[in-house]
Amino acid sequence: MKRLKPNKIDSSSSTDSKKTFSTKTRSHTFKSDTTQTTSSGGVSSSTDSKYLHSKVDACSIDKQSSCSGKTSTLTMLPNIEEIKQEVQKIIDTHSVVVFSKTTCPFSDKAKDLLKSLSVKYETIELDRLDKGSKYQAVLKELTGQSTVPNIFINGRHLGTCDNLLQAHCDNSLRDMLNKMSTSAVFDYDLIVIGGGSGGLAAAKEAAHLGKNVALFDYVEPSPLGSTWGLGGTCVNVGCIPKKLMHRASILGEDLHDAKAFGWELPEKVHHNWEVMKNAIQDHIGSLNWGYRVQLRDKKVNYINAYAVILDKNTIKVSAIKKNKTETKMTAANIIIATGERPRYPDIPGAKEFGITSDDLFSLSYCPGKTLCIGASYVSLECAGFLAGIGLDTTVMVRSILLRGFDQQCSEMIGKYMSKHGVKFLRGCIPTKIEQIEKGQPGRYRVTAVNADGAEVVDEYNTILFAIGRDPCTRGIGLENVGVSLNPNTQRVLVDAGEKTNIANIYAIGDIGDTRPQLTPVAIHAGKLLAKRIFEPSFTTKVDYTNIATTVFTPLEYGCIGYSEEAAIDKFGEENIEVYHSFFMPLEWTVPHREENTCYAKLICNKADHERVIGFHVLGPNAGEITQGYAVALKKGATKEDFDSTIGIHPTCSETFTSMHVTKRSGESAEVTGC
Ligand SMILES: Cc1cc2nc3c(=O)[nH]c(=O)nc-3n(C[C@H](O)[C@H](O)[C@H](O)COP(=O)(O)OP(=O)(O)OC[C@H]3O[C@@H](n4cnc5c(N)ncnc54)[C@H](O)[C@@H]3O)c2cc1C
Repeated sequence: MKRLKPNKIDSSSSTDSKKTFSTKTRSHTFKSDTTQTTSSGGVSSSTDSKYLHSKVDACSIDKQSSCSGKTSTLTMLPNIEEIKQEVQKIIDTHSVVVFSKTTCPFSDKAKDLLKSLSVKYETIELDRLDKGSKYQAVLKELTGQSTVPNIFINGRHLGTCDNLLQAHCDNSLRDMLNKMSTSAVFDYDLIVIGGGSGGLAAAKEAAHLGKNVALFDYVEPSPLGSTWGLGGTCVNVGCIPKKLMHRASILGEDLHDAKAFGWELPEKVHHNWEVMKNAIQDHIGSLNWGYRVQLRDKKVNYINAYAVILDKNTIKVSAIKKNKTETKMTAANIIIATGERPRYPDIPGAKEFGITSDDLFSLSYCPGKTLCIGASYVSLECAGFLAGIGLDTTVMVRSILLRGFDQQCSEMIGKYMSKHGVKFLRGCIPTKIEQIEKGQPGRYRVTAVNADGAEVVDEYNTILFAIGRDPCTRGIGLENVGVSLNPNTQRVLVDAGEKTNIANIYAIGDIGDTRPQLTPVAIHAGKLLAKRIFEPSFTTKVDYTNIATTVFTPLEYGCIGYSEEAAIDKFGEENIEVYHSFFMPLEWTVPHREENTCYAKLICNKADHERVIGFHVLGPNAGEITQGYAVALKKGATKEDFDSTIGIHPTCSETFTSMHVTKRSGESAEVTGC
């Protein structure tokens, strides 16, 4: 069955298509002027067919009537056999066809019912066609019905408006529609809301499986006005620019080391923010472009607009670039992948004078003396690279560092950062921000209170909030369909298959309740979900255990599985054996970097053959080390498996193949040599 052309909201609303269609005896140029209209809850289209010019050598009765007194061949109509073929073709090539008249109230009633059911149908308005009466005569011959509306579903004659209403009442209409492919009923098989890591992956996979997909992505500007292109948080304001700025700061450290290795460099080296920022933004621009090309190649309809769910199959589209039109689209399935945005504290001056990670990476000026507020990985990573490129940097923390991560490792990161120029204000909460001086950067006074209730006041050029992120679940119409949220987190409640409480609506990525907020997690979830929706035999779900991650602080931190605290909580202290060891990267020896800074820790479950349930590493390239061991943990590796693995020398990673000191023993885990 031919798939109807879906509404393309970003193209003109009417399309002209010329088709050549041949009969046994002759061929004519047939012009089909298809005007697609959207109205509440449905999509309708009316086809007005006209012959442009035909080499008519045998006139029908119509030829005589329309030609009377005139000689023009343009008004000549085809013979009855051709009309029959035309009518049959319309019936055969559209899932639902309503032959109607614009003046007929029963036709309107029938169309209204189809619209209310979000059924896509083709309307042929007979009173608008020159050959309308011929169509009607042919329809009578075909069906015995001389009146309109004359309705066909799946090539079969249903009948009049009354027949349609009756079929609706006795549910046979639903069965007929269910037999049609979903794309014949809806504009799309799948609409994805959100073009970030998860949404893009799901849309591309569904398109790869031959499905008709639309993807919406729209970035609400930050309070400072920052906005960005297709790709979501990771590409534009997350993993990618963060890692590249981290790289800039690591290069600064390497410059110091380089001197020890014989490189003769000027005593003072200076970092240029603008050069770094522009180079990174150029790279991001190329990624944005790449995603657009991928979607175009895969025939995903990318719509740069804000989407709101109206009902379980209908999306309202608004804020389309400058042309603020609103329209509606329907889909059999909806995936929500709207991600999160940074949170601001409710204190005077926060939104007016503060920035977040949404602004930092594209800041047109060097931020200068910066206060990073929060103990999240985003706060520590940003503070780390800002200090690394030579800026005066302070982190204000209410309580612990890196909540949810292994606390021994988190504190070691804090210690390393303190030694490397980052100041920490622990036990402090900001209460107000005032502008002292405008500028780029400006100057701001930050007032805070510490644990003793004493006021702490200082001045900064930039205040960066990294106190957490809120899921984008408001304003997207979840209440219109009753999608359930966790009332505490406002994240979407999903089952193991990413399904919400509404059967055809799914949620992936950062907005899924209890889901790890990481790019590869969102991508994996999107891919598997699209396959599960569209390949009935495919049932694999995401395994959310033992997902590796890395914090890109100046001393990088990679981890998999349980933190020491969580392992003790879960299995009991007596069942947990912790092996640990400091290590000295060989590269650090020549420039005499500090010893006993880099650290490796394996947490094992004694009750289960010392299966490794927690892996932690602090040191250079922690992400690269951790990724490989993630496979081992996924495969259920035991401490014995680690011990029997031969290491690669000289690397940091080999430490994990030769760890023998347990915490319980109290022996020193410090480095003793090569
Ligand atoms: C500073 C920072 C550093 C990070 N570093 C890492 C890292 O190193 N490694 C890692 O794995 N993860 C990292 N993350 C997390 C990672 O970026 C996210 O987990 C990931 O981007 C989530 O993907 P998503 O698809 O759920 O949402 P997103 O990527 O956030 O995409 C959601 C998209 O939907 C759009 N949208 C929202 N509402 C609508 C609507 N109604 N209509 C249309 N479009 C809408 C949004 O504008 C956005 O473009 C980092 C995050 C931050 C903030």
